[in-house]
Amino acid sequence: MGVKPTVLKLGGSVITDKNKPSTANVDAIDRLADEISSAKVSSLILVHGGGSFGHPIAKKYNLTEGYGDPSQVIGFSETHRAMTKLNNFVMEALFSHNINAVVVQPSSCVLTTGGRIQSMEQKPIERMLDMGLVPVLFGDAVLDSEKGFAILSGDQLVSSLAITFGASRIIMGGDVDGLYTADPKVNASAKLIERVTLEELKNQKHEIEGSKAIDDVTGGMLGKMRELIPAIEKNIQTLIVNATKPLRVYKALREEEVVGTIIKKR
Ligand code: ADP
Repeated sequence: MGVKPTVLKLGGSVITDKNKPSTANVDAIDRLADEISSAKVSSLILVHGGGSFGHPIAKKYNLTEGYGDPSQVIGFSETHRAMTKLNNFVMEALFSHNINAVVVQPSSCVLTTGGRIQSMEQKPIERMLDMGLVPVLFGDAVLDSEKGFAILSGDQLVSSLAITFGASRIIMGGDVDGLYTADPKVNASAKLIERVTLEELKNQKHEIEGSKAIDDVTGGMLGKMRELIPAIEKNIQTLIVNATKPLRVYKALREEEVVGTIIKKR
């Protein structure tokens, strides 16, 4: 493979209204597609979360528990369908900004064991990158060898893709300015951590809590950090920025100075 790819995640909290079921934030999606297009990154993998599309359905059918009852099977189908609906909004915006995007549906090319990625069809993504295409993946319902099925988070995908394809960096676009000393939505005295090393993260120097948004079955900052650790351990620099604020993602992609949190191995 040629240039090392950048892996960019757009959080479900950014591209949907987390408090309204199946509501896409089309303005944010369009602005972000514009920023991605203007940044002209030479090799890019895009991942997005589920927000108010996937999570409420996955929760309704208890999908994170895995398969226990035939009545859940329709839930798998519905969760995936909801995610493809959200993905369509993203794809339309990318196309309208002339990005050579191609959907890669995790339900068809990823298998998990106990909720963890066990295998992923690698070659097509590799070839897409070589061709200058932008693979777009999303958190999805997937088949699991132990649990029957599982919910694969966008965050786990990001880490795994970054490691598999030797990414140069990960950019996580969320709805807060970065990693804070506590949840900034709950604690007004929470401070933004501009730089942190893996060691400091592992020693849990900072309080990192789960997301307060209802019905998020995979989310929260703690889960996010846990997922990212294996990639950071492989020296893939990770930057967390606020994708709800204009130009933060653009600047991050351009490697310009930007408000956010840089996480390095050491
Ligand atoms: P996304 O949908 O963007 O993937 P989530 O909503 O799952 O993200 O998780 C991010 C949320 O985690 C933030 O919006 C914030 O409210 C919460 N959070 C909890 N603890 C922290 C922390 N220490 N620093 C930053 N955010 C935190």
